[in-house]
Amino acid sequence: MDDDDLALAIDVGGTTIKAELVDRAGTAVAAEQRPTPHGESARDAIVEVGGVLLAQQPDTPVVGAGVVVPGLVDRAAGVATYSANLGWRDLELVRALGAAWRLPVRIAHDVASGGVAEHRLGAGVGTQDLVFVAIGTGIAASIVSGGHLVTGHRGESAEIGHLAVRTGVACACGRDGCLEAIASAAAIARRYGALTGSQVTGADEVVARLDSDAVAREVWQEAVEALADALAVVSLLVGPALVVIGGGLSRAGAALVDPLRVALRERTHVVHPADVAASALGDRGGVVGAAFLARDGWAPES
Ligand SMILES: [Zn+2]
Repeated sequence: MDDDDLALAIDVGGTTIKAELVDRAGTAVAAEQRPTPHGESARDAIVEVGGVLLAQQPDTPVVGAGVVVPGLVDRAAGVATYSANLGWRDLELVRALGAAWRLPVRIAHDVASGGVAEHRLGAGVGTQDLVFVAIGTGIAASIVSGGHLVTGHRGESAEIGHLAVRTGVACACGRDGCLEAIASAAAIARRYGALTGSQVTGADEVVARLDSDAVAREVWQEAVEALADALAVVSLLVGPALVVIGGGLSRAGAALVDPLRVALRERTHVVHPADVAASALGDRGGVVGAAFLARDGWAPES
């Protein structure tokens, strides 16, 4: 293998497709973005943006492509099985993208990608046991245990957004009291609006009011405690050394990480309490993980 070869890495988000050519150190040497089209035409947009990047670096070898997507993914079949937000079902990707780019292509789940990236290059460097929690419109997680990504029977795992931690709060999944219905960025903004009658555009606005607004503090503390309840369950099950918070809510920084660390410690008497940190890679985590996916399929380091 060439020392300065590149990987084509693409993170298909709910609103934006982020694409990069990434070197062995994880640095982007070229980057492009496109709005994510709804439905199956997303595939055409992925093909196009990848092709544009490959044409920019005609003289450097590209070892392969990693593409990470939301929803359900069948990695072995190379199919994006289902995304409610993006409106696709059984979208074949690996064969189509491979034929268009003339490269080996692997696909995987975007939150898994964020977790692998934080483990190898971000806040989780130095531990083999971490939980990555992406908090935005919803809440999803990925677990690295003993250096291995936990993948589940059919690729589904670590859906901690749907752990039931309260009662009397309806979740979009149809069940009651799910973490996501209380502590997602969307839920925090919704709850603050319901209590005050003053609509906010997002959780960022609630965070900005923490110093001056008792209702904002109450809503925030409820979310922190619900997160701690769910993470205490995860801690009992897999004993992580570190919880890394990603997604939009991680922009709250110490306002989230510090009280969450305390609340988690209060709830973990039997196992060693995990430390809590904000994502080090931020919005780039998905793409960085996709570059590792392209290079080694996330095989654990031996
Ligand atoms: Zn739910």
